[in-house]
Amino acid sequence: MKTIFSGIQPSGTLTLGNYLGAMKNFVELQDDYECMFCIVDQHAITVPQDRLALRKNIKSLAALYLASGISQDKSTLFIQSEVPAHSQLAWMMQCVSYIGELERMTQFKDKSTGKEAVSSALLTYPPLMAADILLYGTDIVPVGEDQKQHLELTRDLAHRFNTRYNDIFTIPEVRIPKVGARIMSLNDPAKKMSKSNPKEKSYISMLDTPEIIMKKMKSAVTDSEGKIYYDAEKKPGVANLLTIYSICSGESIESLTEKYKESGYGPFKEDVAEAVINVLKPIQDRYDELMASDELDAILDQGAEQANRKAEKMLKKAENAMGLGRKR
Ligand code: ATP
Ligand code: MG
Repeated sequence: MKTIFSGIQPSGTLTLGNYLGAMKNFVELQDDYECMFCIVDQHAITVPQDRLALRKNIKSLAALYLASGISQDKSTLFIQSEVPAHSQLAWMMQCVSYIGELERMTQFKDKSTGKEAVSSALLTYPPLMAADILLYGTDIVPVGEDQKQHLELTRDLAHRFNTRYNDIFTIPEVRIPKVGARIMSLNDPAKKMSKSNPKEKSYISMLDTPEIIMKKMKSAVTDSEGKIYYDAEKKPGVANLLTIYSICSGESIESLTEKYKESGYGPFKEDVAEAVINVLKPIQDRYDELMASDELDAILDQGAEQANRKAEKMLKKAENAMGLGRKR
């Protein structure tokens, strides 16, 4: 059976972008693949995090994975920092990466530009991500469009390691959804929606109440043309809302465009909000149950145990390939 790996950072509450671009697709993959879903807390600390908020976000992310339909019987759900092999292999992957290629990563540029104190870990984020993926012999990595460049680098690093040392790593493929791969910010549709954006109006959180979702949707930036049709270049705001509406309702963009051709932005936005609320409501109900129960710890313990067992094996292979320590 082929292996899937994907990670999400506990750097805030998940957004609709994370759900539509990543998590929603994970659920469908569970039956056909061996799935490793990781809460990448070590990635989250590449930018400053409040200790208590981070703890809370880790638990909340675990509950959201499960509430969205990830099952502990089909998939392995675990926390990155509870599997030490990730940071151990990350060091080795750093040793095969070049500063130049890391500096070219757009996420590094986006997250470091204009900042006074940039951690070196923000630069070495991609070798850690490569380690996450390569540890499990991953065949496919389902992610949003923004992670494509990191995946290409992961493939390069794996290939470089294989040729320089020993052919131990599977070269992973990236899988990006056809629609929803890049949900845009509501107040600045030129940028992607991000959970770590300090402006709350820029995103819909998966835990926003119906009232807040309605309010944020109504204030979403569109344009002054007043017509509803899909043109990502000229009308990024409207195109983004059409994408969100289409995935949440299951109706095609063509059919929505036809339906709303005489409608103004006001009623359209209200209907988009309704569709989002309908998708998120059952997830939020299950989330509340999970957060109130004591199921989470047992599930994460089991996940850490399974992940450690697999990761240890690959770590040993990598150490042997590089000649670290003594042969075992
Ligand atoms: P941060 O702002 O802290 O980087 P994020 O919202 O970008 O948070 P990540 O944890 O970095 O979220 O990414 C988790 C997954 O969500 C990845 O697969 C990523 O590609 C996907 N993703 C992130 N933002 C979007 C978006 N706007 N549209 C679609 N997918 C997205
Ligand atoms: Mg991100």
